[in-house]
Amino acid sequence: MTEPVKLLIHGASGRMGQALMRLAAEREDCAVVGAVSRKVGQRVVDGVPQFAANELSGVPAFDVAVDFSLAEAFDPILALCAERGAAFVSGTTGLSEAQRAAIAIAAERIPLLSAANFSLGVAVLSELVERAASALPGWDCDIVEAHHNGKKDAPSGTALALGAAAEQGGAQPRYASLRAGDIVGEHLVQFAGQGERIELVHRAINRDIFARGALHAAVRLHGRPAGAYRLRDLL
Ligand code: NAD
Repeated sequence: MTEPVKLLIHGASGRMGQALMRLAAEREDCAVVGAVSRKVGQRVVDGVPQFAANELSGVPAFDVAVDFSLAEAFDPILALCAERGAAFVSGTTGLSEAQRAAIAIAAERIPLLSAANFSLGVAVLSELVERAASALPGWDCDIVEAHHNGKKDAPSGTALALGAAAEQGGAQPRYASLRAGDIVGEHLVQFAGQGERIELVHRAINRDIFARGALHAAVRLHGRPAGAYRLRDLL
């Protein structure tokens, strides 16, 4: 059997980090060798070495970093991967233009994937949105997203990615965001014409869909040449 891919989970104590730690422990094709959070000692699976954000230089050798943290925590983990020649999978949203530029530069040295949504359903929704937009010129396009009240960025990264798909089809999307309760993630893309409407909706029921997609991508990214990959390249 081939060796398990060594993962570093960045943002391990968070909502997504907890799902990643739990699901990674169930897989045989990967092993978590380190868990990084803002502070050590927060709800991380037993037996995995933990590191605080300011201890990054001390993490053990790893093949792929899987990052679901915050935009403000993004630069050091990308830099560490580039420095160590490790692959990088990130689901962190709310990144700045400068951070996107840094991703493009790092992709010259390491294989990486930065995606606003790791679910298969949203990948399909994105294709439907582009198709609807190009078939419905002149219709109003609105994207309404809802997330839990702890989410920092708005509109969500997924809403912006769906908006980019709508723009590809020629629409000019507008955005509305709701932050309430414990909603995992819901996206409605509405096309409104004269006397008729189309509504395309995706609802995430739990975070495992994103965590599974990210772990799958991490295992498939390991060993590939440097470059910026898309989720569909790895599914
Ligand atoms: P969360 O607030 O529950 O967790 C954030 C994690 O980041 C925590 O572990 C925290 O300790 C850590 N962190 C904070 N500051 C840090 C720092 N300076 N250095 C290192 N770690 C630090 O957030 P969440 O709900 O788990 O979401 C995390 C990110 O993932 C968000 O950007 C969210 O939008 C995104 N997300 C993406 C997808 C996707 O499919 N791409 C799905 C869900 C969430």
